[in-house]
Amino acid sequence: MPIYNFAAGPAVLPAPVLQQVQAELLDYQGSHMSILEISHRSSLFTELYAQAKERLLNLLELSDDYEVLFLQGGATLQFTMVPLNLAVKHHRIAIAQTGHWAARAVEEARRLPDLTVDVVTDAGPDYTTIPALPALPKDQYDYLHLTTNNTIYGTAYHQLPATSVPLVGDLSSNFLGQQYPFDQFDLIYAGAQKNLAPAGVTIVVVKKSRLAQVPAGLPSMLDYAALAKKDSALNTPPVFQIYVANLVLKWLQDQGGVAAMAAENTRKAQVLYDFLAQSRLFNNPVAPAARSLTNIPFVTGDAALDAAFLAEATAAGLLNLKGHRSVGGMRASLYNVMPYEGVVALRDFMATFEKHH
Ligand code: PMP
Repeated sequence: MPIYNFAAGPAVLPAPVLQQVQAELLDYQGSHMSILEISHRSSLFTELYAQAKERLLNLLELSDDYEVLFLQGGATLQFTMVPLNLAVKHHRIAIAQTGHWAARAVEEARRLPDLTVDVVTDAGPDYTTIPALPALPKDQYDYLHLTTNNTIYGTAYHQLPATSVPLVGDLSSNFLGQQYPFDQFDLIYAGAQKNLAPAGVTIVVVKKSRLAQVPAGLPSMLDYAALAKKDSALNTPPVFQIYVANLVLKWLQDQGGVAAMAAENTRKAQVLYDFLAQSRLFNNPVAPAARSLTNIPFVTGDAALDAAFLAEATAAGLLNLKGHRSVGGMRASLYNVMPYEGVVALRDFMATFEKHH
């Protein structure tokens, strides 16, 4: 029986990547040392670090006007680091509150002194839409923060809002899986554990012109400019996570890059949305224009039936379909690595379950 892992993160990784990790775990490139044992100062590491950076910029079609950082502290630490480093002129930021993680970004930014945080759009408490942004005044905000994909509620931006305010994006849950004009962002960040690597590394891609404006005197581990100067190795970086990220980036290039992933993710999501549209048992509450490609929540409306569905799905090899604890129900995460056949298997299972209930 094939097993499909629909977890929202940590999430499924490409089998060929895991096989390569296994094959070279005891002896990395003839060094007689494991990747888990090598120094972050060794050329073995600095070479793969440089390769990962180059692959990432290549996949995002960004020039070397951008710097790539591999940081720790998860996407959550970026809720603090982004304002500390970028809110330097107006000391005022705008956040589109389109879900739980955007609300967390608001909460963390509001802990900082000398910073005004304006929630400029609020899709709560249901978070089933992506409301249009109001016109934002020019030259009053250091940036506008968007969560491109809302992991828990299953909504996403399919077009970036037109605004003169520089954009910052939390791309954690559709990173390299949905196409955007990435050069419209001054900064992009993403926790790696959904699309790229095991938990423990966070990608930050930032315009070098913004790095030049980072204020003096930040604690060095929170200072993008200081981290960039040391190639993210101001302290010991997560070597293993960056190594896996580099292999997954190669895998993504071999698949045809972001455009190919986005096309395949659209095809996969359509299978489930088409089924949900005609289902009498399962419902997805999200406004059609705002539906995510990568996280699809659905419910039966009956908690006992949801629980029965989850138990039977698990027994059938369809794993980790439980919705986030804050919303309940089910959620299928269809990141880059989830194959089309996995989504078809889920759709067929849902159809059979519906027949019996
Ligand atoms: N932003 C989004 C959109 C997320 O989905 C998550 C995690 N699920 C986070 C931020 C927080 O990520 P981390 O656990 O890496 O701090």
